[in-house]
Amino acid sequence: MFFDEEIETMKRADLDVLVEDRIRYTVKYANDCSPFYRKWFRKHNVDPRDIRSHEDLLNLPIISGEVIHKNQPPVSDDFYLKSVDWNQVFTIHETSGTSGSPKTFFLTWDDWERYAEKYARAFVSQGFGKGDRVVVCASYGMNVGANTMTLAANKIGMTIIPEGRCVFPLRVILNYRPTGMVGSVFKFLRLAKKVSKENLVPSELGLKGLVVGGESFAEEARLYVEEVWGCNVYNTYGSTEGTMCGECSEISGLHVPEDFVHLDVYDPNLESFVGDGECGRMVLSTLLPVGEKTGTLLLNYDTEDTTVILSRGKCACGRSHLKIHSPQREAETFWGLGSPFNRVDVERGVFQRENMEYVTGEYEGFLKDGNSEGQVVLGLNLECIEETYCDMRIVEENFLRGFFKFKPKLEKDYSEGKFKIELNFLGLKELEIFKSRGRPKD
Ligand SMILES: [Zn+2]
Repeated sequence: MFFDEEIETMKRADLDVLVEDRIRYTVKYANDCSPFYRKWFRKHNVDPRDIRSHEDLLNLPIISGEVIHKNQPPVSDDFYLKSVDWNQVFTIHETSGTSGSPKTFFLTWDDWERYAEKYARAFVSQGFGKGDRVVVCASYGMNVGANTMTLAANKIGMTIIPEGRCVFPLRVILNYRPTGMVGSVFKFLRLAKKVSKENLVPSELGLKGLVVGGESFAEEARLYVEEVWGCNVYNTYGSTEGTMCGECSEISGLHVPEDFVHLDVYDPNLESFVGDGECGRMVLSTLLPVGEKTGTLLLNYDTEDTTVILSRGKCACGRSHLKIHSPQREAETFWGLGSPFNRVDVERGVFQRENMEYVTGEYEGFLKDGNSEGQVVLGLNLECIEETYCDMRIVEENFLRGFFKFKPKLEKDYSEGKFKIELNFLGLKELEIFKSRGRPKD
């Protein structure tokens, strides 16, 4: 049931003590081993010994992608966030931010061990363990996700089939009978389509769980994938910076491994914490067990994702670590007439159950100016299962209901004609995303 029962079920008060111990050690480590922090502490006359609790982290800088860029080549002459000797660096990684230029991360072997432990806890909380065989469709490369999951499998006696992508021959499923797959909502749907084409029924193939890695999705999309594959779909959130959070069997939020990662939720100006239950910017700090080392130390790292702390109480699964709402990317949030909406809102509209009789779930969207002054138009191309059979009126009604569910202001703008939604219904494979060259079609 647990990977590390003592830690995972630790009482809140004990957990808080452990976290503060690790905050103190990690800040000391930052001063001793990270050129960036050492300089920052001196420049701002901060005595690292004064940073003792989670509130004190408010006195340290927020590390954005921009700060990382400025403290590594080519802007700087060295990697100032690297916090370990070169001979202790096991692997080097790059992640591309929205700006396109990569951020470098250094991992020691101990970092890998801790990353893997976080995923191992998530897998166990989702019911995976010895005897399970899991196809990893996430890519193995400069990101750490797929490799970390593979290492995690070793910790819990699970078998990994490292496909790296979701375009794999069906024999992989038929011959090896995997009990789980790691991928994305759309990859699972495309794979199901491929399975159905061979006159097989996805829900009869013996899968017991699907794990979505690193993307937010609407509950409606989850329910549909669960129906198609006949098993639970669990969300996880992982990043090269070291967060690995996952939904447990309860599927009511993602547990944050609080002994390894400290998570704060900030207001949009990144000045103060917001309360539990309130949406804000997710800011993370690495927590090092006393005596351990890390390759790239980040305190107060701005993920540019938003989330909500759902609970710090004991979960029905027995775990005490806090639960958060699936993080949403700010880069996937758009503004129309002063109202934010996210890719997830669009998917909530598309994946209304009745719509799935007519559309595949694949879509592409764009925002543009309307004909009248100030009018904003959201255009969406939807892929139909069969164009001639598609009941556009029903799909549109369902879409609007799902899309506006949490957007009363935008709905008012819609009824007043200031916000317009144009749905275009296209046949199979007619979306631009399938036509543009070079885009992976798995
Ligand atoms: Zn739980």
